Amino acid sequence: MTETLTTTSPVPAPEPVPFLDLGAQTAEVEADVRERWDEILRTSGFVLGPDVERFEREFAAYCQARHAVGVGNGTDALEIGLRAAGISRGDEVIVPANTFFATAEAVLRCGALLVPADVDDDFLLDPEDVAGRLSARTRAVIGVHLYGQMAPVAQLRELVGPDVLVVEDAAQAQGASRDGLRSGGAGDVAATSFYPGKNLGAFGDAGAVMTSSDDVAERARRLRNHGGVNRYEHLEVGANSRLDSLQAAVLSAKLTRLDAWNLRRSEAAARYGALLAEAFRDVPEVVAPRELPGAAHVWHLYVVRVPDRPAASAALTAAGIGHGIHYPAPVHLLPATAHLGFRPGTAPRAEAHADQILSLPMFPGITAAQQERVVATLRDSVTGRGPR
Ligand SMILES: *Cc1c(COP(=O)(O)O)cnc(C)c1O
Repeated sequence: MTETLTTTSPVPAPEPVPFLDLGAQTAEVEADVRERWDEILRTSGFVLGPDVERFEREFAAYCQARHAVGVGNGTDALEIGLRAAGISRGDEVIVPANTFFATAEAVLRCGALLVPADVDDDFLLDPEDVAGRLSARTRAVIGVHLYGQMAPVAQLRELVGPDVLVVEDAAQAQGASRDGLRSGGAGDVAATSFYPGKNLGAFGDAGAVMTSSDDVAERARRLRNHGGVNRYEHLEVGANSRLDSLQAAVLSAKLTRLDAWNLRRSEAAARYGALLAEAFRDVPEVVAPRELPGAAHVWHLYVVRVPDRPAASAALTAAGIGHGIHYPAPVHLLPATAHLGFRPGTAPRAEAHADQILSLPMFPGITAAQQERVVATLRDSVTGRGPR
């Protein structure tokens, strides 16, 4: 390698801050995972099998549900959970307008009708708005535990009564609780995702359906495996969406550490809260997220609202700070749902949030120095000062 002379700036550029850093978590479980993987490689039991059954038992207990059924990913978990609970063509399903598209996609893949509803200023389904969308054909309402905080499942239950299913999209909230209810164990049926970036993430795609109904669990086991539990006995048209043993072994190893990781997220969220309160004391347009009374938030994402998002985003990019927008458009205003004919104004709060929300770096192990730099950069962009 030849040596080159470069002009160096007097002040070294600050280290970039990643949006998400999974490296430390991977290192922590690596030895445990390798040990299980060696055994799986020896036995060639790659799909379902003892490691999957073990993780299903562990995760059901963690969610305080009777059953967990491992599937291929979170989107399939939603679709299989809805179908297993009896949702089919023509049923109306109420979904918060601001969620990852998969929530709406699963409803539409069941042949059901998508009914978007508005959210409150904590980004969660607003029971009052849901009340106005109920009809004789409403069969389910999906509470999405967005960003790591649980939707008001108890209030939704009370609102819709016993004949409408309360479904949880718990993909972003493994370990969260609210009003004494546990994420994944609070509704009639719940779905979660173990996509690598979730609080509990596999080394690839994976998901699970949770329920305390023996019948719904049995049907979900069938639907994930070509409509039958026993080979070549196909009782209905299902899917191929099973959990791999290799992923189940990763998930078991990570589950024992999840509470500790969630605690570190919660400490980081508290630090952001203090830094933002100080930096934006006189700027009420910058709104920090909050943990609701009676809730344990697991901070999958740390989402602030800012008045001029393009400026904030440009400043963070210039400073090498990772960030995201979850999500840039509500589900009823996406090209994929254009044929359904929803108009702007359908869910005004969710639509307004879509232009203001900004997800800051958040992961267990983010340092105080990194968080201080994120908030200082945001402060400079909002107050119009140049970088320090
Ligand atoms: C990640 C996610 C899903 C989908 O999970 P996949 O495993 O990516 O299919 C569904 N809903 C929400 C809210 C999510 O965050």
